[in-house]
Amino acid sequence: MTVKEAYNYGVYFLSCNGVDEAEFKSLCLVCHLAGIKNSDYPLHLQDDIIMKRFADLLWRVKSGEPLQYVIGKWDFYESEFYVGKGVLIPRPETEELCDLAIKHIKGLGECVVYDLCAGSGCIGISVARACPNATVYMIEKSSDAMPYLLKNAQGIENARVICGDIKNTNDLKKADVVISNPPYIKSDDIANLQSEVLFEPQMALDGGKDGLDFYRIINDNWSGMMYENGHLFLEIGETQGKEVSELLTGFKDITVIKDLYGNDRIVTAVKKG
Ligand code: GLN
Repeated sequence: MTVKEAYNYGVYFLSCNGVDEAEFKSLCLVCHLAGIKNSDYPLHLQDDIIMKRFADLLWRVKSGEPLQYVIGKWDFYESEFYVGKGVLIPRPETEELCDLAIKHIKGLGECVVYDLCAGSGCIGISVARACPNATVYMIEKSSDAMPYLLKNAQGIENARVICGDIKNTNDLKKADVVISNPPYIKSDDIANLQSEVLFEPQMALDGGKDGLDFYRIINDNWSGMMYENGHLFLEIGETQGKEVSELLTGFKDITVIKDLYGNDRIVTAVKKG
């Protein structure tokens, strides 16, 4: 079967089965199998595709598995990250968090940066790539996430992986910058999320009873780990701007920033003296 025939079949199969964005998903799957970028699709219409392999991927998408897991990698910021069951899929809102942090870190000299609850490492690794002056420590406790984090961090000289709980700060170096996209969904709300999200690890989503557990840990255990005037960059749930700002008692200059959809999404703050 050719790339073009496979694409057409994929669109037909996915739309008949009620899958949204059938064209985009079929294109991503075909190009993944053909080993080409989506934008190069028109140049490869007559290449061969093994139908059996394509059909397997289509079935996984039809059964509700997120496209990103089926493909096994996804673009984030300026590079590609391995993803799969065990890590959260990198999201465009998080790119904005990364971008803000990178702009700040580029203006510092040598510095120590932490990415707390690193997951796939998309934040920490993007920062490490963009800021050679920074040493970026990524802390993650999930053993399901660890293989992805380690693989994504391979070859990035200024990135370090720490397997552990963010509550434990013993023996760690002081931080100039702390970044985190921690789990922030209220435990009771998890069951009501979109069905594709339920394929993602609960541990990466569950922020405890009020969704704020990790922000409390960051304030209580990490403000003391930061140099005076060190910067904090947090992703938050869209309703959490006020609550998160209020609980960051170790910080000043607290600012809530909206994402591209106009929802509150980022909190930045500066460590109090
Ligand atoms: N930091 C990772 C991300 O932004 C994982 C976040 C998490 O596990 N809550 O995708």
